[in-house]
Amino acid sequence: MDLTSYAELAVQLVNMGNELKDPFSLRALLEETGRTEAAARLTRRDIDALCELRDELAGVFAAAADGDDVDAVERLNGLLVRHPVHPQISGHDGQPWHLHLTEGGRVADALAVGSVMGLASVVTRLGVDRLGICQASPCRNAYLDTSSNRSRRYCSERCASRANVAAYRARKRGA
Ligand SMILES: [Zn+2]
Ligand SMILES: [Zn+2]
Repeated sequence: MDLTSYAELAVQLVNMGNELKDPFSLRALLEETGRTEAAARLTRRDIDALCELRDELAGVFAAAADGDDVDAVERLNGLLVRHPVHPQISGHDGQPWHLHLTEGGRVADALAVGSVMGLASVVTRLGVDRLGICQASPCRNAYLDTSSNRSRRYCSERCASRANVAAYRARKRGA
C-alpha cells in the first residue's frame, strides 16, 4: 500500500473533470497506474460515485489553496467518516504480504478509501499547504507539492511555462 500514489490518484481524479464520465478514460487511467483489477471491474455505478467523490476532493484542494486549513481538514474528516478503512493483509499475484485499505466491495469504494487516506497522509505528514490549485489561470487543476522548499504553483511544466511567458509579456508592456 503506497499512500503517496493514492494521493496522486486523488489529484488525477480531480483533474479528469468531466472526462471522468467516460468509462474508457477512467479505465485507461487505472491501467496506466497499475490498477488493472479495478479497471476490469469498473461499472457505471462506480463512475457515478467517483464523479461525486471528485467534486468533494476538488473542494478539499480549493480550501487548501485558499489557505483555509480548518475547512480543508473538516472536508477530509467528513470523507474519512464516509469512506472508512477496513484493512486486510493480502498476498495475491506472488507479492509479499501487504496491506489493503479495504477488501471486497465496489471499485469506487476502494478508490475513495485510497484517495482520502492518501490526502490525509500528505496533510498530516507534510502539511495542508502541500495541496494546491494551479495558478496559471484559467487552469484550475489540482496538484500535490512534494518539493523540498514548497515552491510549486502550477499543475504541470506546460502551465508553468505558459505563466512565465504571460509574466514576461506583462513586464515588456509595463517597461
Ligand atoms: Zn495488493
Ligand atoms: Zn495548470
